This record gives sequence, C-alpha cells and structure tokens, in this order.
Amino acid sequence: MPGRVAVVGGGISGLVCAARLGQLGVSDVTVFDTGRHACGGRCSSRTETINGSDYVFDHSAQYFTVSDPRFAPIVSSLHSKGAVRIWSGPVGHLKDGKFTADPSLTQAFVGTGGMRSVAECLSTMCSVQRPGWVGSVAFDSVAKKWKVDKYGFFDYLVIAHNGKCADRLMSDSGAAVIHQLLRVRFSHSLNPRDARMHLTSLWVLMVAFKSSLNLPFEGAHVTDVAEAVSWICNNSKKLRQSGPVECWTVVSTAAFGSAHKVPQENVPPGKRKEVVQALLASLSRVTGVKNLPEVCFTRVQLWGAALPLNVYSSRDECLFDAQRQVGVCGDWLVSPCIQGAALSGLAMAEKIRQHVSGDAQSSTLQPQFKAALSEAVGAFPVNPKMIFSPKKQ
Ligand SMILES: Cc1cc2nc3c(=O)[nH]c(=O)nc-3n(C[C@H](O)[C@H](O)[C@H](O)COP(=O)(O)OP(=O)(O)OC[C@H]3O[C@@H](n4cnc5c(N)ncnc54)[C@H](O)[C@@H]3O)c2cc1C
Repeated sequence: MPGRVAVVGGGISGLVCAARLGQLGVSDVTVFDTGRHACGGRCSSRTETINGSDYVFDHSAQYFTVSDPRFAPIVSSLHSKGAVRIWSGPVGHLKDGKFTADPSLTQAFVGTGGMRSVAECLSTMCSVQRPGWVGSVAFDSVAKKWKVDKYGFFDYLVIAHNGKCADRLMSDSGAAVIHQLLRVRFSHSLNPRDARMHLTSLWVLMVAFKSSLNLPFEGAHVTDVAEAVSWICNNSKKLRQSGPVECWTVVSTAAFGSAHKVPQENVPPGKRKEVVQALLASLSRVTGVKNLPEVCFTRVQLWGAALPLNVYSSRDECLFDAQRQVGVCGDWLVSPCIQGAALSGLAMAEKIRQHVSGDAQSSTLQPQFKAALSEAVGAFPVNPKMIFSPKKQ
C-alpha cells in the first residue's frame, strides 16, 4: 500500500498511531522523537543513582485507567508482553491529612519498569528515529508531499505533539487552518472565551528519604486547594523497588506551576532549591508527617506544557486536513491522559488509512474546545461496566 508517513512526536499518541498504521497495512512510517535516552514524551521515567544503587522514578505520567473498549486491546497487548501490570495501590485522595481510597477506581495500571515501559513496548511495534528533532516542515502543493526537515519527502505528516513546539513548527508550513488550532495559551485556569488550547505547567519533585514515611497508601491525589502539591506517590512501593531508601514523586498543582514558571532551558539559579523546599514543606503538611525523614536525593523537573485544561470538541478524536495530507493527534484531542492520547493515535491512523484508500474527508477544523474533566495530573476515566481483564483478552 502506498503512503510514506512522518510522525513528529514519539509520545503515546504518535507511537500508537504508527503501530496501528503498520497493522492497517501502511508500513512505511517513521516516528521522529527528540528523546535522547528514550521516547515516550510525557509517559517516561528517569533512573537515578542514589548511594551507589539505581532507582527508577516516574516523573510524568503516574498510572492509567482503561474505560474504552478500543484502548483495552492495546493494554492487553502491553500486558501480555510484560510491559504493564495492575497496580492495586492503595491509591485515592488525601484531604486534611486523611486518606480515602478512590471508590470509583476499578483498576489502575502501571508500567512494570516504570511508565517508560509503556512507550518502550509500543516503540518495538514501529520505526522510531531518535533523537530526531524536526525543526521545519513544508507542504509542496504540486508534488503533494511534505518536506520534513532533512529527512526527505513524505506523503503524510502527523503532528503528534503540542505546545509552543507544534505551534512554531506549523506556523510557516502552508497548513494555516491546522496551525490555527495548535495555538496555545499557558494558564492554570480556563478562560472559556479564549478558543485556544490551554496548557498547565507542573513542577515534579523526585525525592529519596533515608527511611520510610510509613504512610498507609502508595499514591494520593491531594485535594487541599491551598496546597502546592497535587499528587504524591511512593515510587519504591509502586514500582516494587527494594533498597535502603524510599523514593517519592511529588507533583505540584497547576497554580504552583504557573507561579513558579521559568524558561525550561534556562532555570534561574536558586529556583530549583526554592521549588524543592516548597514542595517538601507541602508534602509534610498534607501527609501530617511533621518531621520528614532525612533527604538523600532530590531532583526537580518543570513540565512547561504539562496538561491540557480543555480538549478539542469533535467526534473525530484527531485533526485531519485531507487536501494537505496532514493530521494532528494527542491527548488534547480526546482527554488529558494515556488513554486519551492512545485513542487519538488510533483515530489518526484510521484517517490516514482511509485517505490512502481514497475515501477520507477532512475532520472538523473549527476552534472549538470544551473543559477537560481531570485531576491536576490527568484524567482517570473509569467504566464500571467494563472490568477489564487483560489476561483474558
Ligand atoms: C507531570 C505529569 C503527570 C501526568 N500524570 C498522568 C497520569 O498519572 N495518568 C495519565 O493517564 N496521564 C498523565 N499525564 C498526562 C499524560 O502523560 C499525557 O496525556 C500523554 O502522555 C500525552 O501523550 P501525547 O502523545 O499526546 O504527547 P507527548 O507525551 O507530549 O508526546 C510528544 C512527543 O513529541 C516530541 N516532540 C515534540 N516536538 C518535537 C519535534 N519538533 N520533533 C520531534 N519530536 C518532538 C516530544 O519530545 C514528545 O516525546 C501526566 C502528564 C504530566 C506532565
């Protein structure tokens, strides 16, 4: 089947799109991703050496749920390959120092070697060029092909990332309507009158303590509105890592992310220390552990374009301009979570397959957004009617 496809972005949406295209018979697909150590984007992990031993931290996506029958086979496949397992927590909500297990949460999944296992496994099902930064794209309307940076010509272009990068990349591409929909506003609160994608910024603290915090849960969404942290997770327990230290991931609120936003590539001196101190103080308050154990490691990361506060309102679950053979997929086109990104990738693959077969139409390309229903670290959709058993799929 003809159709050479360039997918710019090796997060969950881009990887699922490429893997699905292969299954649909469109096999000449290359995913370009900037990741130096791995692809995965906002579904990745870091390995840190602490006192001579290696520990994995999930520093972006923490866990995910399955509520859509189209996502279930993907999770089954990941499960059968040993990339994910069910996480029984306890996981829930923390308010005024009191933990309540989430009653609506039927199942949570985590990567077996950290969340990066999800992307690693998906990347074995497609061709990934990494590190592969795409700095320019241009549509040749005569040849009907996309020139993708120094990587040559492609029949289709898929933009599988968002934020300033996608906005800049598409600004002179010749696909003005698509570009208009990639424009972005950074904020911790939604302005419904502004028909642009709204993205939050989040700081993430990875911290190791010399002894255990002895808390009765492994992960908790913090619901104290005045606090600086929105999610705390015992990485040692969640990822079954033994060792003398206890590793935690602490994610800030979007309001804290906005208040402490700095250029990611040029964090001012002192900022990291300030953020570490503020997040540790908040961790102490929300857990009620007045004297936190001795800290033996900290690292903070700012996700400047962390999570969409709104999602594009259309049944297509992706954007596609059939005339220019360009599409966009990503979490912001469905729901701010792993499942949302995967569903968008599936929809994108289907649009391209239809177009290769001669019957695809453009998707709705109007600026129409609706608020995303989500925790600070993403959405965790559940479907009580679908208790998903990965082994039986
Ligand atoms: C701190 C944090 C916590 C989260 N927690 C959860 C959670 O617990 N559960 C959950 O379900 N979701 C969570 N999310 C959301 C989830 O991570 C995302 O919804 C999902 O991973 C988005 O996937 P994506 O493919 O849409 O985009 P991305 O993951 O952003 O992928 C885009 C990729 O494109 C690459 N790229 C960008 N520009 C270029 C270029 N010019 N050339 C080449 N490559 C490029 C990027 O490097 C990146 O790898 C969290 C997000 C954050 C930030």
